[in-house]
Amino acid sequence: MLIKPNILLIYTGGTIGMVKDFKTKTLRAFNFDNLLIKIPEIKQLECNISTLSFDEPIDSSNMDVSHWVKIAKIIEDNYTTFDGFVVLHGSDTMSYTASALSFMLQNLQKPVVCTGSQLPIGDLRTDAKENLITAIQVASLQKKNGDPKIKEVCLYFEYKLYRANRTTKINAEHFEAFSSPNYPELAESGVHLKVFKRNLLKQEGSGKFHVHDKMCTNVAVLKLFPGITENVVKAVLNIPNIKGVILETYGAGNAPTLPWFTKRLGKALKEGVQIVNVTQCVGGSVLMGRYETSTHLQQLGLISGGDITFEAAITKLMYLLSINTTAQNFKLMFEKSIKGELTDNFQ
Ligand code: ASP
Repeated sequence: MLIKPNILLIYTGGTIGMVKDFKTKTLRAFNFDNLLIKIPEIKQLECNISTLSFDEPIDSSNMDVSHWVKIAKIIEDNYTTFDGFVVLHGSDTMSYTASALSFMLQNLQKPVVCTGSQLPIGDLRTDAKENLITAIQVASLQKKNGDPKIKEVCLYFEYKLYRANRTTKINAEHFEAFSSPNYPELAESGVHLKVFKRNLLKQEGSGKFHVHDKMCTNVAVLKLFPGITENVVKAVLNIPNIKGVILETYGAGNAPTLPWFTKRLGKALKEGVQIVNVTQCVGGSVLMGRYETSTHLQQLGLISGGDITFEAAITKLMYLLSINTTAQNFKLMFEKSIKGELTDNFQ
């Protein structure tokens, strides 16, 4: 007899869970207990669905580390009972949450699929139904022996399944709101739901699943722009108790060669601040030393973010700063893929 997979749907908030009140024309949060009544199509899916909602669903702009921990703990508490998890989340910060989860969920052997929508589930032209239904189908995919086909945190939106920590929100208007500029899709939904096996995360060992529930928030971002002043750079690098900074550079990781700039970075590094070079470009990689305008950064010993997205870089920084490691090890760990978030040996 075929055993149906058990899927847990975790509703955190965002547009997807809203319905339009046709009398008042306003959007209001939808009671997820009524999900099966509102979307009868879900009954046709070959799985058992349970739902769990945040007591107070939030717009994802209000997400912080405590919410990431809450989602991770829900998954941990229900890990043995369920075969797959679907996290319903506002699209605005979905790539951050999904990237953070990819680092916090350790030895994950089951699918965690984050999804949301640009229009509420109650809207006539909604993209929510397709996103939700296919996300559940993805989370239910199993091999013949009952093992899940996908064992990583991913993000499903508008017919495409991406590795979570490779995504970035690129559009506030189009249904195709996300992109994975430096890594191919994990699956595509067309007439068939095609999984690209070669793109899936290679398994990281067979340790027991657990949640890393600490993320260091003593981090900041320094985005370069032509005309940036020493005062701005100094202010960011001198934030009290700062432990890590993402330096958003130009092109292949380039930055001004002005002596004051190099001096400020050098001082912060000496004081133990971890500085990661991440490009402002949507696609491509940091390659320090390719141009004269990045040689000084390489000589200072800045960490290369390679082809990592900003979302994955900041969450990886928070994660690595929360584990005990030496400065040298920190650089090695950042520059190497932990959960497929960057391409090793990018050339
Ligand atoms: N502001 C909403 C949110 O991120 C947008 C959405 O759900 O797509 O929660």
